[in-house]
Amino acid sequence: LNRRLAEFGTTIFAEMSALALSTGSINLGQGFPDTDGPEEVREAAVRALRDGLGNQYPPGQGVPELRTAIALHQQRRYGLSHDPDTEVLVTAGATEAIAASLLALVEPGDEVVALEPYYDSYAACIAMAGGTRVPVTLRPHGGRYVLDLDELRAAVTPRTRLILLNTPHNPTGTVLTREELTEIAALAVERDLLVVTDEVYEHLVFEGEHIPLASFPGMRDRTVTISSAGKTFSFTGWKVGWITASPALVTAVRSAKQYLTYVSAGPFQYAVAEALRLPDAYFTTLRDDLRDKRDLLSAGLADAGFEVYRPAGTYFVTTDIRPLGGSDGVAFCRALPERCGVVAIPNAVFYDHRDQGSPFVRFAFCKRTEVLQEAVARLKGLA
Ligand code: PMP
Ligand code: GLN
Repeated sequence: LNRRLAEFGTTIFAEMSALALSTGSINLGQGFPDTDGPEEVREAAVRALRDGLGNQYPPGQGVPELRTAIALHQQRRYGLSHDPDTEVLVTAGATEAIAASLLALVEPGDEVVALEPYYDSYAACIAMAGGTRVPVTLRPHGGRYVLDLDELRAAVTPRTRLILLNTPHNPTGTVLTREELTEIAALAVERDLLVVTDEVYEHLVFEGEHIPLASFPGMRDRTVTISSAGKTFSFTGWKVGWITASPALVTAVRSAKQYLTYVSAGPFQYAVAEALRLPDAYFTTLRDDLRDKRDLLSAGLADAGFEVYRPAGTYFVTTDIRPLGGSDGVAFCRALPERCGVVAIPNAVFYDHRDQGSPFVRFAFCKRTEVLQEAVARLKGLA
């Protein structure tokens, strides 16, 4: 393994899901729903397979049906217009979108400013691109994780190539506000930066609203917006993601993508095109259902003695384990399956400044109600 990747080892999600399996625990670690997405969307995938749609290499940019559906979704939801032929690119999940964006846009030695804690692939992809990550730490304050805009400003240097943003934010559940996004946009314009913004949880917002960074003044042509069918439609195994951006940025990201996977998931692309056209009620129900689950798990965790950071978005809740005694989240998560049959993720692995993340542990609530109830009952035994 080369030096760029050596520090990363095995992703925490693989490690913790393996632990859940070997101990028979409830897996609230890796974020995937335990109920598949809509029946009609699954049927659409079956139809595509049967009718021979996408069984051979689809177009490199993604099938036109899906690109059009993505552009319509951005228009319907946010009033953002994108040309499906030049401003949309389908990727193998958001994961490839992140990798291709960084590989395409970052020069060796460039600095990439990213919010910390960060989704684990960010650090690895910045490293693979030869960039240097510059973390800006979100800090717990008043029950929420907050971005210090002065720290963000101070993190930008003449070597900064881009800001890698994530809202709604995994793992903290923070949804950046209009005011915060306005300032981030102003900074990007002032310092002439690109922004790659990971908005995969765009539909999972319980308080406030998701506003795409691309909709702010001056951002349309300097923003790569990433999303994924995995989160919005509960098909994490399909690996259909996408970017929307200016023609120049789409062309750049596509240059990298063509040598990573070239194309992906032909028949699923047709099915996701149908999914994106589901009526508003689908998206509202998804959100309301997850809000109930958030409340159930948050209340249970609080009862069990955790300090809970109630998330405004995503399907993760971050907790502080210190009220339970101890402050080492990694050790806590390794021991939790034995102690009570539940798996969680230590937030420390999402930090460069590990000490900042040490006592925090993330639980996923994208699980059936009875599973969450059982997890809550098990966690009660901890106190
Ligand atoms: N970004 C974030 C913030 C995520 O949490 C995830 C997945 N859990 C991804 C990207 C990857 O998405 P995909 O499964 O579509 O590759
Ligand atoms: N994004 C999901 C999470 O944060 C899992 C993704 C993965 O397994 N790589 O839990």
